[in-house]
Amino acid sequence: MKIHPLVIGYALALALLLFGQQHHAVPSDPSGFRSVVDLTHTINAQTPEFEPSAKSLFSAKTVATLEKDKYFARMISLPEHFGTHLDAPAHFARGLWTVDKIPAERLVGPLVVLDVSSNVKNNADYLISIEDIAHWERIHGQIPADAILIARTGWGARWNSAKDFRNADKKGTMDCPGYSVGTAKVLVEGRDIYGLGIDTLSIDYGPSADFPVHQYTLAHSVYQLENVANLERVPPSGAIVVVAPMKLEGGSGSPVRILALLR
Ligand SMILES: [Zn+2]
Repeated sequence: MKIHPLVIGYALALALLLFGQQHHAVPSDPSGFRSVVDLTHTINAQTPEFEPSAKSLFSAKTVATLEKDKYFARMISLPEHFGTHLDAPAHFARGLWTVDKIPAERLVGPLVVLDVSSNVKNNADYLISIEDIAHWERIHGQIPADAILIARTGWGARWNSAKDFRNADKKGTMDCPGYSVGTAKVLVEGRDIYGLGIDTLSIDYGPSADFPVHQYTLAHSVYQLENVANLERVPPSGAIVVVAPMKLEGGSGSPVRILALLR
């Protein structure tokens, strides 16, 4: 029997297709991580802002459409400190790293989540204390060097209401938790952390007028993460975190994508 070359061609194509499908059907896990949790809020015009403004400082204007231009693109405008974002040391300290200069190896490290939400429940102006650190270390051991430590105050649940998230009184003073300077000192000088984060608008608590934790932490070349999301979805210890700000030349900070890798 003579087999038509086209038949052989089809058979080969089918075999390749089947092999290919089989290949894709076997899940590969080159990273070795169990799951990835996104610790980032979505940016839009409803995003709560540190300074209240009648109109959002975020804008996105469509400049090309699929119908007209065959591709879709927008022009965006927003402050460096907007949504889930990173404060570079240069934000408060002259001559220190701008956001593009923070060494890449400082943007990956062990994730430490400090859950202080029960303390915040009855005191919106709660100051995260050295005792909170001691409590974490009694359970999980000493905070590892090069850690990125983020406080979970429970504030993330308010994100969808800018009014509740800012929690300002009649005079405009915000009531929300933050770190004490003493706690920042223990973490920066005693534990050599790379980054200090929180799920509120600021590392300093709401009533602060002079931002002493910003002053101290950034002067020690430790960057800050603010408005961090989804902390209830990550363990207090054991995850690795990847912090990916825009590489803005000379930037004081930048919106950031923060990903927790769970083992
Ligand atoms: Zn900031």
